[in-house]
Amino acid sequence: AKAAGRNTIACFDPEMQLRVAASVALEADLRRALAQEEFVLHYQPQVGVDGRLAGAEALLRWNHPQRGLVSPAEFIPVAEDTGLIVPLGQWVLRSACRQLAQWAGGAATAALEMAVNVSAHQFHRPDFVGQVLAVLAETGAPAGRLKLELTESLLLKDVAGTVEKMFLLREVGVGFALDDFGTGYSSLSYLHRLPLDQLKIDRSFIQEISGEGHGAAIVRIIVALGQALDMTVLAEGVETAAQFDFIVAEGCQAYQGYLYSRPLPAERLAEFIAARAGG
Ligand code: C2E
Ligand code: CA
Ligand code: CA
Ligand code: CA
Repeated sequence: AKAAGRNTIACFDPEMQLRVAASVALEADLRRALAQEEFVLHYQPQVGVDGRLAGAEALLRWNHPQRGLVSPAEFIPVAEDTGLIVPLGQWVLRSACRQLAQWAGGAATAALEMAVNVSAHQFHRPDFVGQVLAVLAETGAPAGRLKLELTESLLLKDVAGTVEKMFLLREVGVGFALDDFGTGYSSLSYLHRLPLDQLKIDRSFIQEISGEGHGAAIVRIIVALGQALDMTVLAEGVETAAQFDFIVAEGCQAYQGYLYSRPLPAERLAEFIAARAGG
């Protein structure tokens, strides 16, 4: 009886209980938020190293009635665990494509690309390709300016199935970027089989450029890999002029980061573009 009692105590780790309760509450809150349309997209510019604005990455924000803007780092993991990421991701894709269609109709924004994050759950649904095509048709967004950001772990889940889906979407002009490159389990044996247009160097390596870590060496290797595989290389999370100078010297074609701009609401991005065009 004593041993059982001990086990019982071990199972009721109060911290763990709190975490589970918090995630159950968050899940209910997310469902409510989706129904009440509390989500918004912010857009972070993606820029050529020559200063040309290439497009923007759509980043999800939860405009919570009590808590204000909640970071995706807090709720995306719960949305992934509960499968809510599927309807949420569908909402993101539709909203981003609506915005892209609007850009396509404006003189100063006509050439901009829209990058959209896609989660593994969403991508591996059998109807994913059909859903993207339906959203493109429904919104009138130009497929040739939509870029889907996929992660290494997503690709590895089912390489053959992934390749097939990517080629189907590529046929209508959709592009692909490999997100957070270098942090997952990349394998050179599949990388060349994938119709990827861009490698995105993870922010953690950019931060390490001037530090003790191997950031600088890793940036060099990724740029060389991009050249060999005919993919452009974009550096994420560029915050300082020194980081910018380094990525230019190493041959990255594009970047995004606070140095150029934080993610902005659509109206603020429009003002930003208008101000640059005017000045
Ligand atoms: P990510 O796809 O790697 O997005 C880049 C993140 O880096 C964004 O964080 C962005 O705000 C941040 N960032 C950009 N430049 C800088 C910089 O110079 N310094 C610093 N410190 N941070 C910078 P955010 O918006 O909080 O998003 C976090 C992650 O949440 C994203 O990482 C992505 O994995 C996920 N996420 C965001 N939106 C979506 C979405 O619509 N769908 C899915 N599946 N995931 C999303
Ligand atoms: Ca991304
Ligand atoms: Ca990223
Ligand atoms: Ca990242």
